[in-house]
Amino acid sequence: MDADDTQRLRELRQVVYREFVEEGRPPTAAEAARRLQLGVEEVMAGWGRLHDDHVLVLDDDRVGIRMAHPFSAAPMHFVVASAEQKWWGGCAWDSFGIMAALGQQVLVATTCLGCGRPLALLADPGAPPPEPYVAHFLVPAARWWDDVVATCSTIRLACDRECVERWAAAEGERVGAVLDLTTMWRLGKVWYGDRLHDDHRRRTPEEAAVVFAELGLTGPFWDLGDPGPAAG
Ligand SMILES: [Zn+2]
Ligand SMILES: [Zn+2]
Repeated sequence: MDADDTQRLRELRQVVYREFVEEGRPPTAAEAARRLQLGVEEVMAGWGRLHDDHVLVLDDDRVGIRMAHPFSAAPMHFVVASAEQKWWGGCAWDSFGIMAALGQQVLVATTCLGCGRPLALLADPGAPPPEPYVAHFLVPAARWWDDVVATCSTIRLACDRECVERWAAAEGERVGAVLDLTTMWRLGKVWYGDRLHDDHRRRTPEEAAVVFAELGLTGPFWDLGDPGPAAG
């Protein structure tokens, strides 16, 4: 991949993130093409490569943007709002990720995985949220990108561990990883803090493992596999 190619892909990534930040939704390929003065075919080819590299997520027919983590083009259990804009958060992790990427306080609203009670909190980059909620991860790290939209859909908040266990029993699912909100907030910050930067690049699995370990997220559940791609 030559330098022009790298620069082009960077622009094709950034045009998506800029639109998400400003408008709460991704650009269409035609809008991106207009903005970058490219052909729609070129945009689609570039987005296809970014999708294959797990930088963006295209929808099933590969014509539109489905997700650019932490942003989602469609509802996924989480609404995230600043004073100026609102977004669909992809999951609990992504909702704190929007706070971290923007570097500003946002309101996060969702429902409890277990009891359905509305849960809301102010996510502030300066301090972890005081709420006693927990975040539940169902899918182990090595499987995140098997179907990343489905994976995100399962990363939810709950009132407490009891609500997670009630949900698991009702659904016949196992309990995955349960994180306190401070750990979830810290993971969102470290993972997504530089997501809007021009020179952002995806973490290698080794780098991701270091991030997880620093937060005490170790063991088979957090093992990204070999040579599995890092997610987020
Ligand atoms: Zn609950
Ligand atoms: Zn997610």
